[in-house]
Amino acid sequence: MSSVKEKEEVLKREEEKDGSDDLFFSTQQVIKEALTKLGYRDEVFELLKEPIRMLTVRIPVKMDNGSIQIFTGFRSQHNDAVGPTKGGVRFHPEVTEEEVKALSIWMTLKCGITNLPYGGGKGGIICDPRKMSFGELERLSRGYVRAVSQIVGPTKDIPAPDVYTNSQIMAWMMDEYSRLREFDSPGFITGKPIVLGGSHGRETATARGVAICIAEALKTKNLRLQDARIVVQGFGNAGSFLAKFMHDAGAKVVGISDVHGGLYDPNGLDIPYLLDRRDSFGMISQLFQNTISNEELLELDCDILVPAAVSNQITAQNAHRIKASIIVEAANGPTTMEATNILTERGILLVPDILASAGGVTVSYFEWVQNNQGYYWSEEEVYGKLQRVMIDSFETVFETAQAHQVNMRMAAYMIGIRKTAEAARFRGWI
Ligand code: GLU
Repeated sequence: MSSVKEKEEVLKREEEKDGSDDLFFSTQQVIKEALTKLGYRDEVFELLKEPIRMLTVRIPVKMDNGSIQIFTGFRSQHNDAVGPTKGGVRFHPEVTEEEVKALSIWMTLKCGITNLPYGGGKGGIICDPRKMSFGELERLSRGYVRAVSQIVGPTKDIPAPDVYTNSQIMAWMMDEYSRLREFDSPGFITGKPIVLGGSHGRETATARGVAICIAEALKTKNLRLQDARIVVQGFGNAGSFLAKFMHDAGAKVVGISDVHGGLYDPNGLDIPYLLDRRDSFGMISQLFQNTISNEELLELDCDILVPAAVSNQITAQNAHRIKASIIVEAANGPTTMEATNILTERGILLVPDILASAGGVTVSYFEWVQNNQGYYWSEEEVYGKLQRVMIDSFETVFETAQAHQVNMRMAAYMIGIRKTAEAARFRGWI
């Protein structure tokens, strides 16, 4: 694209923005910058700027009241030069095609950073699982698999849990796929219950990966976990397990939150008690009277801030007011690019999502390997292997950032995209 046309497009997209950051467009811009820094020609960007395949499906589901509701779902496959595509399926009312596309690119980056033999994929269904019965969710999950079955499979594209999907949903999806293919296919999907070929440690893997990144980030600043005050935004799968790990390790978790608000105690919250009271969607704050807003939570006085909820939480508006000296992103896209630059200038160490949250897909890979070989590992084996992958990945990103004088997000993009670009080159695609 010519630079004039490109600028016009940037301006047009800027105008279209309604205050929320355009994830897909900003992801493309960072990929372009990363490829340029690595010395690749424009055609490499042309190949990698969009998913190679994007399927939109309509899924009819019989609801409990006898009516039929039609749901819209997506599956995006960013690039399969490295190997089959891999990534979760989210159930959320605000899922969009653009978001699923951007998230599939991020999966390519995560798999590149952790050196897994996959390209990136992502799926989503526009629905509100909090308002659906067990039976409706089962019929929707099975309907989705039937709708996308042609493009997924253990050697094509392997789904997994994501926002508001869990091991039960993975079990229904695996069962539906196995029925369609007429043979047992545990390697079709990861994040399954242990009895159906799930891996030890998968449920807590994202939080463990974040905890390993926190330990590595603290080392770079010569700080000790036992002295650290931590704020975790979000009390879902990643946030709640992370709060528990930090609490068990002797750190002070001074703030946590759900979508409705946050809880704060400068002396440290009683995390085991809160874990006991949370519901399966991570809701907790409404049980208490003295709550703070999510905006206030992000600006609390603390050493480590972990956004583990949704995207676009740290923006140009509040980045100046963040007090933490380390931010470790457990959610996808919690910090905008503008905010990343402000935080970098302020000397805050930001461990980006595509590195920090890669523990989930790493243990998903271990699950897939175990399914393929039909031989299963102990919890200790899984944790040991995860630890090695996360520490190596952190070190590579940290060293690349220093060597190229860029922040850790740019370094992660550079490492994440390089493997796919190289695989595509060897295949003769570019
Ligand atoms: N949904 C998770 C992620 O965004 C996990 C993907 C997987 O396990 O394949 O990383």
